[in-house]
Amino acid sequence: MERENLWAPWRIEYIQGLDKGDEGCFICRNLQTPQADDANLVLWRSESCIVILNHFPYNNGHLLIAPKRHIAELDEATDDELLEMTKLIRESQKVLSSAISPHGFNVGINLGRCAGAGLPGHLHIHVVPRWDGDTNFMNVCSDTDVVSQSLAELLVQLKQISKEQNLPNL
Ligand SMILES: [Zn+2]
Repeated sequence: MERENLWAPWRIEYIQGLDKGDEGCFICRNLQTPQADDANLVLWRSESCIVILNHFPYNNGHLLIAPKRHIAELDEATDDELLEMTKLIRESQKVLSSAISPHGFNVGINLGRCAGAGLPGHLHIHVVPRWDGDTNFMNVCSDTDVVSQSLAELLVQLKQISKEQNLPNL
């Protein structure tokens, strides 16, 4: 049970997209188009980082935290960037807890494509909310359109909570 993977069928669209190789870096693209932040599911922009709802989530509320600079390795990050990313993990946990009350979180970084990084060129930290038994209930949420709709609604909810609670508080 512990080793069971989350079932996220909409990720096939993402995995199939990886071989196209013509889309560049979506994080940098999002950074350059602040007018499209809602469509791109950008939650926060801080001084040196950006926080985005993953369009291809492993679970509801899956956030990505990335430095604004296109760097691949922790080695290349400045102390300021590392501190801000860590604080944003904390703030992400706060806003998600208020919005959707997860029972726990997975927080992690995939370094290199062999480790599962879909975008190996731009460092990003995954914050994935977890619920007791969620590997089972995800089976009923398999429709991509439903997921897209809920992502837009979730973004509105997270932004509202951010406003009310003055998040991210860095
Ligand atoms: Zn990039």
